[in-house]
Amino acid sequence: VNGAKCFITNGDVSDFYTTLVTVEPGAGPAGVRLLLIDGRESPGVTVTGRERKMGLRGSTIVGLSFDDVEVPVGNLIGGERGFGALMAMFDFARPNVAAQGVGLATGAMEYALAYTLERRAFGKPVFEFQGVSFMIADMAIQIEAARELVYAAAAEVDRGGPRAGELSAMAKTFCTDTAMAVATDAVQCLGGHGYLADHPVERMMRDAKVLQIYEGTNQIQRVILSRLLARRAGR
Ligand SMILES: Cc1cc2nc3c(=O)[nH]c(=O)nc-3n(C[C@H](O)[C@H](O)[C@H](O)COP(=O)(O)OP(=O)(O)OC[C@H]3O[C@@H](n4cnc5c(N)ncnc54)[C@H](O)[C@@H]3O)c2cc1C
Repeated sequence: VNGAKCFITNGDVSDFYTTLVTVEPGAGPAGVRLLLIDGRESPGVTVTGRERKMGLRGSTIVGLSFDDVEVPVGNLIGGERGFGALMAMFDFARPNVAAQGVGLATGAMEYALAYTLERRAFGKPVFEFQGVSFMIADMAIQIEAARELVYAAAAEVDRGGPRAGELSAMAKTFCTDTAMAVATDAVQCLGGHGYLADHPVERMMRDAKVLQIYEGTNQIQRVILSRLLARRAGR
């Protein structure tokens, strides 16, 4: 294998890399293969640099370069159907990102709830202003719906059902959009204090952003979903 890849999460501390490679340029999905590269036993795998990022600072993203890396034939995933294997992997991975969104949103909502019940302005807890409490009620509604969608997607993937791709894309999009909206509103509920690093909601807001981007952006999820819907309608 020869080439380079940017944006690899935890690439500097990983032993194994799932790597999509081109074997037949110009052949589209049929011309790619999925490989498991063992970084410990493969001379030629090098970390080329670590990025600085907005959030998710508990993990790293690095660039990798592959120089004449030899991969045993037993490390071919999905045989000739590397692209299909990758798509199946995404169906499995996207509900996980969706679940990250639900967890993050739940943490942000619980923090905002506790804070607004405590914080007093104009003689009463700010939670007693409907403008604030309705924001939190809306968070709870969104989170509950998001959680059920994760369960639906995970169950469909587990049983290998026909709607796995569709539900995974829906869950990834809805749950991560929910995480971004809830984290942003949680910062709002804390007012100026929400903007300070003293409280976790500003970190949650920065962390939520990447959930809408990685594992396929939410625009790409909508592309996938609309294609599946059109196919079902016979187009
Ligand atoms: C913290 C972090 C960790 C990551 N970890 C990994 C990792 O471990 N492994 C890995 O392989 N990648 C990883 N990535 C990369 C990530 O998957 C990509 O950044 C993401 O898929 C978007 O690709 P791009 O950056 O090339 O955006 P672009 O493709 O340049 O997209 C730019 C904008 O155009 C939109 N767009 C592009 N094409 C279309 C289209 N057809 N229709 C509609 N809108 C479109 C996108 O949604 C986006 O808004 C990571 C990224 C980050 C930030």
